[in-house]
Amino acid sequence: MVNWSKIDTTKLDPDFYAKAQGVLNACLAHGCEYQPYLGFRSWDDQNALYQRYLAGGPRASPPGHSLHEQGLAVDCERIVNGVGSWAVEDYSMLEAQAQVFGCDTGWSYGDHDHLSIDGH
Ligand SMILES: [Zn+2]
Repeated sequence: MVNWSKIDTTKLDPDFYAKAQGVLNACLAHGCEYQPYLGFRSWDDQNALYQRYLAGGPRASPPGHSLHEQGLAVDCERIVNGVGSWAVEDYSMLEAQAQVFGCDTGWSYGDHDHLSIDGH
């Protein structure tokens, strides 16, 4: 079972949530477990991340420009032997299955844990 407990799935777009479940269940069926850890973000949440990015933190879109604010994206951590992995090669399954289900990842722009509706 994919563990969705870290995020509030009621704030995701229902169609995207269904697709994301398809993606993560298919990954698991192929032996790759991913755990969603960030889902919906408010304008204020996004702005806080963006201000951190401007101060040298991890990449983040300006508020108003993230699919997270529309419930159309989740960030997923790969679980390997019970531990989170951020190695890029551990996200190739996510990228492959995303395309099967009409989703997209941030793979092409270095945000490989980001799963969204097609078109970022
Ligand atoms: Zn993201």
